[in-house]
Amino acid sequence: MEKHDQLMEAEERFSLTRRGFLTGAAATVAVAGAAMLSGCGQGKSDDGGASAANGSDSVTEGDAADIEPVSAPASWDEEYEVVVVGSGGGLFGAVRAAELGAKVCCVEKSASVGGASKESSIFACSGTKVQLAAGLPDISMLMIQGALGKQVPGAGNEKTIVNVGMNATRTMDWVSDLGLELEPTTTGGPQGGMTGVSPAGKELDGLAARTNIYAYTFLEEQLGKFGGTMKLNTKVTALVKEGDTVTGVQVLDESNETKYLKATKGVILAAGGMCSNREMLAKYIPSAYERVKCSSAGTQDSGEVIRMGFGAGAQQGGFDSYQAFDGGLDGVPWDYYLYNGDVQLARQAWCSIDLRGNFVPYYTSVAQYGAQAQLYQSLPGGQKYCFFDSNYEQYAETFDQECCRHLIVPTMPDIDRIPEALIEHDWKLGAQRGIDEGRIVKADTLAELASKLGVVAETVEEAVSTWNATVASKPEEFDGIPGAWLTPVEKAPFYGVAVGSIMFSTHVGLLTNENMQVYASDGALMPNLYAAGCTVGGNCGPDESYGRCLGPNGGVCFAATTAFMAAEQIMGKLPAFVMPDFPETA
Ligand SMILES: Cc1cc2nc3c(=O)[nH]c(=O)nc-3n(C[C@H](O)[C@H](O)[C@H](O)COP(=O)(O)OP(=O)(O)OC[C@H]3O[C@@H](n4cnc5c(N)ncnc54)[C@H](O)[C@@H]3O)c2cc1C
Repeated sequence: MEKHDQLMEAEERFSLTRRGFLTGAAATVAVAGAAMLSGCGQGKSDDGGASAANGSDSVTEGDAADIEPVSAPASWDEEYEVVVVGSGGGLFGAVRAAELGAKVCCVEKSASVGGASKESSIFACSGTKVQLAAGLPDISMLMIQGALGKQVPGAGNEKTIVNVGMNATRTMDWVSDLGLELEPTTTGGPQGGMTGVSPAGKELDGLAARTNIYAYTFLEEQLGKFGGTMKLNTKVTALVKEGDTVTGVQVLDESNETKYLKATKGVILAAGGMCSNREMLAKYIPSAYERVKCSSAGTQDSGEVIRMGFGAGAQQGGFDSYQAFDGGLDGVPWDYYLYNGDVQLARQAWCSIDLRGNFVPYYTSVAQYGAQAQLYQSLPGGQKYCFFDSNYEQYAETFDQECCRHLIVPTMPDIDRIPEALIEHDWKLGAQRGIDEGRIVKADTLAELASKLGVVAETVEEAVSTWNATVASKPEEFDGIPGAWLTPVEKAPFYGVAVGSIMFSTHVGLLTNENMQVYASDGALMPNLYAAGCTVGGNCGPDESYGRCLGPNGGVCFAATTAFMAAEQIMGKLPAFVMPDFPETA
């Protein structure tokens, strides 16, 4: 079968799974709290219906306590050599271990594979075969140096960061050699600030939405081809520990029965982070708890496997470390999707001030969305205030935005590739809902608008007056906004919205060495226990808050690479680490 056809088939299969979930989940949502989701656009409660069978991961039910391991059962239900928990980045490890001859089981609590990884679009890396063939320079060493530069000097994570960076290119070449057709992420155009690869031909008119889903459906298929087992709707509920060694996992399977899966060679914990667990955020990532407005990672990102790791005696890494973009709104459920129309509207290049009336700089490049979030979090109240007028629809569509700020319109070529139930096909509908529900405030005068937003009226009137005069003077650029995007705020009714940050991954978790083996709290390595992706702590640095680490050391490429490395380490195939010579930088 042609690669393209394989991808189409995978896409179709995914859509069916997804539709099945959406239908099946309706009853759960109705019982569990329709009020929470009503009228809120896509809440993206993407635990794939597992909550119905396996206990809810509702964002209101999180718990931060460590989960103690259980003893080995009298008899195991199933025996494997490698058990991988989580089918996002974890699938790279599961398939690699199976390819190397291991008997593998990948356990996933949701109804479909991919976790938060399937929401992503760019495997941030450099030097892969497809990038070199396209004539792109290999900047992988610079990317590693960039990640190292974010470390607290002397914090001791250097070997891990360098080894992950050095294996990232190899991991992406491996999946490409397996048959997943990749292409360099568009450079010089949409997403120009990111260097990486994505499944070929899947970008939606510059909108980087879920391009990577194809990688995970492809790997699910490969796992079957290599004789591995994929268990969906199966939730790991505890680690099994015998003496110092984690020897398997306890699961609640799709029939709601408790089972024990033995792992004779290793358990790879690749179960994502803790974005949807508010109690864990308060305990481990207080900056996010205090200053982030909502999360886009999905309710499956609930942190229980990290708690199991701590309960089994693992050391913690990465205090207060996470990633966020601009676009968080008040008055939405904690789990709120990055592509909802009101978020898209709020992220545009409007007249923006802080509470004191200072204009807030706007960063147009996708590479700076994290820095934009950091900036908003640093403002009083962790937010800025945007103002626009009744021409906002017309103005917004003239902004030449990248990636997730690129407005979703029904006329986009290929729009039907993404089910409407997942991403509404017209940003204006979600924006209008935000207005109707009062998240985006509407008023006939600026003074009334200011009062509704809780800002001093004179501050807003003065700022808008200065803004309008600036727009009229046609500058080339103002506070980071290109001149062509500057639009006046003059025609009533007026609109305003407070905008903060929206998180999409956490980086507090289990501390590992450079081979992804987990450290115990006393500094020993825990036999048989490995961690990958957002279950690992410290890959952005021990105290890297606000998240500025998309690259081989953060995000999907990190998740894929670390699981791949763990599999090779278990199978004795991970190349020995050698610290490279870094090129001199200017
Ligand atoms: C909207 C959005 C866009 C993004 N775009 C990008 C991008 O373009 N590039 C980039 O580098 N990063 C991006 N990211 C970040 C990236 O998606 C994450 O960093 C990455 O996916 C983390 O991978 P992971 O394997 O750790 O977690 P996941 O991919 O979430 O995988 C973990 C899996 O474990 C499962 N699981 C959890 N608990 C259990 C349990 N108890 N039992 C069984 N299974 C369990 C989950 O259901 C999930 O499927 C984006 C994130 C979001 C939300």
